[in-house]
Amino acid sequence: MGRVYNFSAGPACLPEEVLREAQEEMMDYRGCGMSVMEMSHRSKMFEEIINEAEQDLIDLMKIPDNYKVLFLGGSAHHQFAQVPMNLMKNGVADYIITGNWAKKAYQEAKIYGQANAIASSEDKTFSYIPDCSDLPVSINADYVYICENNTIYGTKFHELPDTKGKTLVSDVSSCFLSEPVDVEKYGVIFGGVQKNIGPAGMAIAIVRDDLITDDVLPCTPTIMKYSVQAKAKSLYNTPNCWDIYICGKVFKWLKRLGGLEEMKKINEAKAAILYDYLDSSSMFTGTVVKKDRSLMNVPFVTGNAELDAKFVKEAKEAGLENLKGHRSVGGMRASIYNAMPAEGVQALVDFMKKFEEENA
Ligand SMILES: *Cc1c(COP(=O)(O)O)cnc(C)c1O
Repeated sequence: MGRVYNFSAGPACLPEEVLREAQEEMMDYRGCGMSVMEMSHRSKMFEEIINEAEQDLIDLMKIPDNYKVLFLGGSAHHQFAQVPMNLMKNGVADYIITGNWAKKAYQEAKIYGQANAIASSEDKTFSYIPDCSDLPVSINADYVYICENNTIYGTKFHELPDTKGKTLVSDVSSCFLSEPVDVEKYGVIFGGVQKNIGPAGMAIAIVRDDLITDDVLPCTPTIMKYSVQAKAKSLYNTPNCWDIYICGKVFKWLKRLGGLEEMKKINEAKAAILYDYLDSSSMFTGTVVKKDRSLMNVPFVTGNAELDAKFVKEAKEAGLENLKGHRSVGGMRASIYNAMPAEGVQALVDFMKKFEEENA
């Protein structure tokens, strides 16, 4: 059986080129007679892999010298705890609630200090990004937290909030490396890698140096201190070597494509294929306010739950997989991350047109 177009929200499709390279190197990584999964994380070979991955990410995102790149075990959920543990010097943080992931991070932060929800779009099922131009930022807030791309609801902050001088922390799990970012606007950028970069089981955090201190909450486990991980260059514990290796290959793939400016253009063109059709269709509608639409996750509905279910079933039979929407939105969701080729999005739209004709 051949490969399908996989619209899963995560774990998600990876570039075929990367999978093939990994396949070729599986039994014998570049003449060393073993796979990367079998290698010591202290070996010269692996040192090269992690150093190159780090440098390629720095190049891609133009990360300034006063930031550290950390490859961290676990996932984005771990960061929901690690951020307050490391950053809550005053015990106060402000959260902007734009979906389930922001809400979970907010609830987790409450375990460690005073977390304030200073804006929310829950009143309309998170279908928009609230106005963040004049927020009631707390005077003693250690940081302001956002989830930059809302994987479930399909919204994206196209403009960052005015944090009134406070440190901005952003969960970019589902928009990591999808377009250029101005790293200097953030204190911490983090994401689980399984949406847009690599296999599940790891997060990457980009943390500004002044936020990496030993002055953390007393409950912080050693392994959860940014300072410990930064000092050990992400090798305090045995890291997820395989994941770092695959992420490194994806960074190289992005560089070959022309970097994040080019990736953004490709993503915009891809998303336009689907959004243009949604705007012209009389059967399918997008669920999100237009100006806040995500380039990565596109939820849509027919307005009829039975028809939605029929669509998802028939799409699967046509080789278009994982289009069922999240239970809190219903309908469908197409996740069209970096690795989804334009042909995949075109195949989806062709199928939608045919379905619309047949079921009109
Ligand atoms: C998927 C996702 C998470 C959760 O990721 P885990 O790796 O399962 O912890 C958090 N935030 C966002 C924005 C996500 O898309």
